[in-house]
Amino acid sequence: IDIFNERESDVRSYCRSFPAVFTTARGATLWDESGRSWIDFLAGAGALNYGHNPPEIRARLIAHLESDAISHALDLHTSAKRTFLEEFERVVLVPRAMPHKVQFTGPTGANAVEAALKIARKATGRTGVLACMGGYHGMSLGALAVTSNAEARGGAGVSMGDVTFVPFPGGTTAGIDSISWIRTLVTDSHSGVALPAAIIVEPVQAEGGINVAPAEWLRDLRALCTEFGIVLIFDEIQTGCGRTGPFLAADHAGVMADVITLSKSISGYGLPMSLVLLRPELDVWKPAEHNGTFRGNQMAFVAATAALGLFERLDIPSLVGSAALVVSDFVTKEVLGLHPGLSLRGVGLMWGVDTAGVGDGAGALAAAVARRCYESGLVIERCGRGDTVLKLLPPLTIAPEELVLGLSILRDCMAAELAGATRVDGASAPAWVISPVR
Ligand code: PLP
Repeated sequence: IDIFNERESDVRSYCRSFPAVFTTARGATLWDESGRSWIDFLAGAGALNYGHNPPEIRARLIAHLESDAISHALDLHTSAKRTFLEEFERVVLVPRAMPHKVQFTGPTGANAVEAALKIARKATGRTGVLACMGGYHGMSLGALAVTSNAEARGGAGVSMGDVTFVPFPGGTTAGIDSISWIRTLVTDSHSGVALPAAIIVEPVQAEGGINVAPAEWLRDLRALCTEFGIVLIFDEIQTGCGRTGPFLAADHAGVMADVITLSKSISGYGLPMSLVLLRPELDVWKPAEHNGTFRGNQMAFVAATAALGLFERLDIPSLVGSAALVVSDFVTKEVLGLHPGLSLRGVGLMWGVDTAGVGDGAGALAAAVARRCYESGLVIERCGRGDTVLKLLPPLTIAPEELVLGLSILRDCMAAELAGATRVDGASAPAWVISPVR
């Protein structure tokens, strides 16, 4: 028995799908201690938009470490924080004419979500919030309360109240007119729901199965929130930092939220860092009212400043635009043709190949394909209801040839599973045929 199985808690998750012991990584490639390599379509679940160990960011970090610069500072003023704030203002806030203030929270995405919900409730004096079916916002109790997945919620151990879930315009609730639904909730004196403080929305649901909110829906939601004084929170923890092309995914719709959460790739190097952008009128915190020891990760500030420079220098929006075409063309031509039950959704460099229309649609095919991909040199995760969706989330900086190589592995593994081939582990794959396979 190895030390991981022996000592690490059973809560571990990704390492069960990808059990190698990884040692090094560069760009979109991972290596394990035996020297085997994988193309990485997981990219730290979106924390590595600039790939592993981007040299420009690493150089700045090394210089910071070697200069005896302050490494931990609570929320004290530091030159690293000032430089980050100035760069963030220049690259993100000013071009969008955003008056938003920047709140540094604890370092995880869930920390940012907790702060966003708390300030919306405090600023409005209301308790209830709306959240979307299929939404994922993290595992701490407040973030879990606005997360819809029953399995995740089952771990809470307490009741999680003051949240009403509404249909998202994607996933299984795609056909429902949720804007009218929300309007009814807030106007009907018999809806049973009091005027909410906020609604929290991922512009593209990630863990929920890569469900892209239509631009018009986001605009209608913005108008509705303005009409009723509901705080609009966009959780851009996975969609932000260029994942869909522009820095914020809501840029596609030209919609500005009152509160925006960012984390994952904000530091560009996988260093923990989170922030909440809030309209100045919502910044009603009393000093120290939402405190925390790790709200000033100096290394992350240094890396994040370098990452913003890379975002500009590499012209991430057009890089992602080109890569998006590669993915959608390849999957449409070479993967979807393998079975009529397969479908593709996504934007930028976040795509989902949904296997729900194949066989019993219970997720066994996606699991088998992901396993075969891993055996063939591609790390790819699953998401969505029943984990039926293979989630393509490569670094934004992946070279086109490597992107196509990863997509080819996915195609070959999908084809092999659909053909009922014998897997490398010796097990025979079930037949997925519900209609003739081309
Ligand atoms: N919000 C979204 C949209 C996410 O995708 C995630 C994580 O996947 C979170 C919040 C939670 O972030 P963390 O895992 O860092 O707490």
